[in-house]
Amino acid sequence: MPASNLITGITGQDGSLIAKRLLEQGQRVTGLFRRSSADNFWRLKEMGILDKLTLLEADIESFGELGNILENGKFDKIFHLAGSSFTAESFRKPWQTFSLNTFAVFHILEAVRLKSPHTHLTIAGSSEVFGEFESSDVDLIRDSSSRFGPINPYGLSHLSNLQIMNYYRELYSLRIACPIMFNHESEYRGEQFLTKKLSSGVVRILENSDYSIVLGNLNAMKDWGSAKEFIEFLYLASENSFDGSFVLGTGHLTSVREIVSRVFEYVGIEIESIGDGLEEKILNRENGRVLISLDSRNLRVKETPPFKADRIECKNIFGDAPSKSVLDIIPDMVEFDLRKGR
Ligand code: NDP
Repeated sequence: MPASNLITGITGQDGSLIAKRLLEQGQRVTGLFRRSSADNFWRLKEMGILDKLTLLEADIESFGELGNILENGKFDKIFHLAGSSFTAESFRKPWQTFSLNTFAVFHILEAVRLKSPHTHLTIAGSSEVFGEFESSDVDLIRDSSSRFGPINPYGLSHLSNLQIMNYYRELYSLRIACPIMFNHESEYRGEQFLTKKLSSGVVRILENSDYSIVLGNLNAMKDWGSAKEFIEFLYLASENSFDGSFVLGTGHLTSVREIVSRVFEYVGIEIESIGDGLEEKILNRENGRVLISLDSRNLRVKETPPFKADRIECKNIFGDAPSKSVLDIIPDMVEFDLRKGR
């Protein structure tokens, strides 16, 4: 009998990618989705897997609903990937972010403990658990044993999740893999995220000469990788019933400015920059058109320092670690949006 998987957040980037991966392996997939007016199935349709899985509408903040789902289905593995994923938004909605991200983890673990204690869990963690650092700490390399100190509500919710997972491991011997993930992107990224703003924005610029993209901090740097590559490690963690946390990142920093350059280079537009600070603008060198302007509303209340993953941790566990930079996947992202735009 092929393995049976339950995925929360199946309509999101990572949920849809892991669903595809599991289906390719001949495994069975059930996904939970929330009622919404938006067409949240576009990723599953785009990947051609919408009719290959079972979808159940559920409120992940309801312990009762999760308990019933676990009681009625016998799942070998659960991937919990639903949550409020936009860090910047968490400053505006701290309580909602914390409530959704943390209570859902609590409910799922409690439901597994009571109804299905042999099920392996993979729960999405975030590098936003890191934030504070000492001035002597110049490398800013982090692994799962580094000191945590989140500086935004999203990171706070993820730090609580790590502690809740430890509690369920220690007291009830649940097996839980928690990849502490740095940023990872793909053509399936949500529209509010920087890389997607750029890949879809450049398509709009090509179609409409008046359109320009509005960003925040061009100098922000992050450890930015490929979602498709990250998914392989979620898959491995689950297949191996891995129990514990590990950082998942490329160990390499990329700046927003580098991503901007790569996107415009890919579509053959030469750019130049004028002005300083928030007055800076990125222009089309040929015709002087403004392609990118900045707005303080796109700045975070507090920017997370440029932390990098220590790839050794993942290598020691799985024999390999993510290596693709976000710059490597920009062509795929732009091609996807060009195709959709046509
Ligand atoms: P997405 O934003 O693409 O997907 C989030 C998923 O959560 C969607 O399926 C969304 O449903 C669902 N969701 C959001 N709010 C609710 C709610 N109130 N009730 C039920 N479901 C809800 O995120 P990713 O796929 O990129 O990320 C997966 C997980 O990994 C998230 O928890 C994220 O925080 C975490 N993570 C992601 C990183 C990244 O760079 N991508 C980095 C570190 C951690 P809907 O489609 O209906 O909105």
